[in-house]
Amino acid sequence: METRGGSVLPAKDHDYLMEIYSHYREWLKNGAPAPPWKPPVIWLECNACSGDKIAFMNSQDPNLGEVLYRYIDVRFDNALVAAEGHQALEALLETAATHAGQFYLFVEGAIPLRDEGLYAIVAELNGERLTARDIITSIGSKAGYVIAAGTCASFGGPSAAYPNPSGSVGVRDVVQRPVINVSGCPNNPDWIMGTLFHLLFYGEPEVDEDGRPLLFYQYTVHRHCQRRSYFDRDEFADQLGDIECMFQLGCVGPRTPSDCPYRQWNGYVNWPVRANTPCIGCTTVGFPDSSMPFFVPLPEKQRPGPPVPLPGEPTLPQSANDGEKASQVEQAPSNGPPPMMNDQKG
Ligand code: SF4
Ligand code: SF4
Repeated sequence: METRGGSVLPAKDHDYLMEIYSHYREWLKNGAPAPPWKPPVIWLECNACSGDKIAFMNSQDPNLGEVLYRYIDVRFDNALVAAEGHQALEALLETAATHAGQFYLFVEGAIPLRDEGLYAIVAELNGERLTARDIITSIGSKAGYVIAAGTCASFGGPSAAYPNPSGSVGVRDVVQRPVINVSGCPNNPDWIMGTLFHLLFYGEPEVDEDGRPLLFYQYTVHRHCQRRSYFDRDEFADQLGDIECMFQLGCVGPRTPSDCPYRQWNGYVNWPVRANTPCIGCTTVGFPDSSMPFFVPLPEKQRPGPPVPLPGEPTLPQSANDGEKASQVEQAPSNGPPPMMNDQKG
């Protein structure tokens, strides 16, 4: 692998980071000006717990106030704008109509499709219910970018967990266009804010096969985990609190793309494995079903049941682990922990 100047990164990644770094220095030197304009933003919350919005609001650098004041113009959101009811809906529709191709559409939460989308009603118009499905179908194609905030919006996540009574799916299954999937349950504040700023200053980030920005999801948790040396020596924790690798306690870090081990959480102070709990794979396509039961080792995990087809869809395979829409990196190995555990990237 070609590297640069003693860096552990491949030359391509090193050059890319250097390019960003020089832009950043230039940007600071010039007094960190705002972009030439503040793109209108619509943040639509569907079947969600608000965790991804809270993560966005918890960003430290830049903080939320700075972002709202200098960089984006939030036109519709259920927490960040003062307008309510029909005024809020009018702002959404007006933004989509007058800023087609320019506005950023953030979607948080999965989109329920069963019963005509009845399980996520965003607004009413002339006495008609507007569901999340209706709104995303109608304005998704007009957005400059569509960003799925969190695993529910990206891939269905907990909202689509077995038996998925609302028929929830990720945004990419509703719109016919590329979606940037900032997965995580919730997403780390840096992942969503970093994606926003990449869009603002450099355009679309490079993404993996499931639409996740490589900036944050290029390597598995396992690659940089502080307990990796224990894994490599086959030294495994018997119970929570032991200092060894937690693979036998259900850790799915080997197939989970994220930079948690060095980015960390809660103001960069800690992350799950350092805090003695296994990675449960919250950024993956099949989460949470493919991580279940959480505390059994990867080869023994079993999905709780077959995917439930939506009305009109053919019956799906009956085997508990058949018919999944998981990428290769998310497939559980068939037996034992082999040395690299599908960790092709790590
Ligand atoms: S299996 Fe989990 S605890 Fe063990 S090294 Fe990998 S990420 Fe860390
Ligand atoms: S350690 Fe794993 S489950 Fe925990 S936040 Fe990171 S990716 Fe998600």
